[in-house]
Amino acid sequence: MVTEEQDLKRESLASEEQDPFVIQESDCCGNGCTNCILDNKPKPSRRLLLAGKRNVILPYTKFRLIWRESHPANDTVLFLHLRHAVNEEDDESVLDIPPGHHVMLRDGSLLRPYSPYWSDFLAKEFRILVKLQSGGGMSQKLASVQVNDILEFRGPIGNYQYDASVTKCLFIICQGVAIAPTLPLVRQVLENEDDMSRIWHLVCSRDLQHVYFREELLEFARNWNYKSCLYLPHQQCGSSACQAADHCLPECLELAKSLRYKEAAKISRLDISELSSFANQNIPGTRVAIIAGDSRFQENMKEMATKALDLEPANVYLL
Ligand SMILES: Cc1cc2nc3c(=O)[nH]c(=O)nc-3n(C[C@H](O)[C@H](O)[C@H](O)COP(=O)(O)OP(=O)(O)OC[C@H]3O[C@@H](n4cnc5c(N)ncnc54)[C@H](O)[C@@H]3O)c2cc1C
Repeated sequence: MVTEEQDLKRESLASEEQDPFVIQESDCCGNGCTNCILDNKPKPSRRLLLAGKRNVILPYTKFRLIWRESHPANDTVLFLHLRHAVNEEDDESVLDIPPGHHVMLRDGSLLRPYSPYWSDFLAKEFRILVKLQSGGGMSQKLASVQVNDILEFRGPIGNYQYDASVTKCLFIICQGVAIAPTLPLVRQVLENEDDMSRIWHLVCSRDLQHVYFREELLEFARNWNYKSCLYLPHQQCGSSACQAADHCLPECLELAKSLRYKEAAKISRLDISELSSFANQNIPGTRVAIIAGDSRFQENMKEMATKALDLEPANVYLL
């Protein structure tokens, strides 16, 4: 016999299953993300609370592709610009994707997370950088997506919170396309004139051609509190000495000529001794590291950075 209590529980479960705002087990993409949607249910940001508006992306929401471009040196890397597709006149809603948060793309039953590198709160637009993986389900979908097509996203997912009132030394370490989610983190600090925190942006890529957003990094470098360094272990020019070494030599003139004003690069991997060179204890501020990359990169960097920079484990964030 079914009791009244069981009936009520079943009814409430059924309505939860239909409620597009409720996160279900099936909302997890199954890829073992560091910040899984099941542990990081969206919370309203301070900016959203102040605006007193609805965040359009909380349930799965339709976004129209308004621009797409391949990376000039690599056609498996796409820049996609999306705009909220419904009720464009509706000024009761905004798009809130706080720095350090990602969104989930749904195509039928296939779910994959992507990290916006730019978003506009009022215009309800955002951009992602996508590295197409050969044979990947979502990569096939995104390779063929055209301007005006509709894609469904939900979010924001993540647990990163930034307190601008505490001065910090921020070590932002990233790998390949995972530079994308680090850009909003940098802008958040540099655009706040009251924030005295300093940033060291340590960018790991195969070579110079695979450093995305170089122009943006150069813009950041106009600020007194921002420094970057590129780590390019596979940089290779055509000179006979560098060809013989299988990668450019540290004194390579071709590389030096390719670098722009204030652009620093090293022909090596970022390792513990290099990380230690940033551990200047005379610079005031709480030491914080933010690491963006695949899970192996995150774990390696976390271990090395914690030792080299003497970080509290609670001050290391994996995106
Ligand atoms: C929090 C988070 C944020 C992310 N943000 C972005 C982003 O902004 N841009 C982006 O391009 N991707 C991002 N990813 C990765 C993305 O979610 C997908 O995993 C990726 O697009 C591949 O999906 P797929 O369905 O095409 O391939 P799948 O079917 O999942 O995999 C196809 C093949 O590619 C391999 N593969 C999958 N992912 C990778 C990878 N990252 N590196 C090397 N091989 C891989 C798989 O092992 C498999 O062999 C993010 C992942 C996480 C966890």
